[in-house]
Amino acid sequence: MRIAIYPGSFDPITNGHLDIIQRAQRLFDRLIVAVMANPSKHPLFTLEERRRLVQRSLQERGIHEVQVIARDCLLIALARELGAAAIIRGLRITSDFENEFQTALTNRDLDSSVESVYLMTNRDYSFISSSIVKEVKRYGGEVSRFVPQAVERALGEKFQQDRDSHSTQ
Ligand code: ADP
Repeated sequence: MRIAIYPGSFDPITNGHLDIIQRAQRLFDRLIVAVMANPSKHPLFTLEERRRLVQRSLQERGIHEVQVIARDCLLIALARELGAAAIIRGLRITSDFENEFQTALTNRDLDSSVESVYLMTNRDYSFISSSIVKEVKRYGGEVSRFVPQAVERALGEKFQQDRDSHSTQ
């Protein structure tokens, strides 16, 4: 049984992430999406909100048999705990490469039995990131082509809450 883990902040999940999930699913017997706390990134959504959005987005797309977990821990320790043979990551532009290179070498140093596997972005989603989606939606732009419906709704609600709390201050 070949298990892979796909970790990320998923703040929030986008169509780019979903594309990686579907392609990774074909390569491994079991895929686990691990929503990582990543507090240094100051996420917009809480860890539990992000986990639920991943879960709903998978349901919305009819993607089954992918487990979703949320954790605040060291990735390589989690991979070992889950018995994962591989850590899946997506690669977009060259700036992704620099970070990923450093992370992969560190993880290999910590545990050489877990392989880092990189999937090249789909051309159609190469420009999509959680940050750009948040930026567009924050200023009222259209994001329906970039994210599942559940995420679009959640972003709308989140920014509405922000506007409400600012208007009462
Ligand atoms: P992190 O904070 O760990 O980078 P992200 O949620 O930003 O978490 O990304 C998780 C993984 O998904 C990363 O490997 C990232 O490169 C990949 N990814 C994000 N968006 C895309 C995309 N549009 N196409 C391919 N891979 C992507």
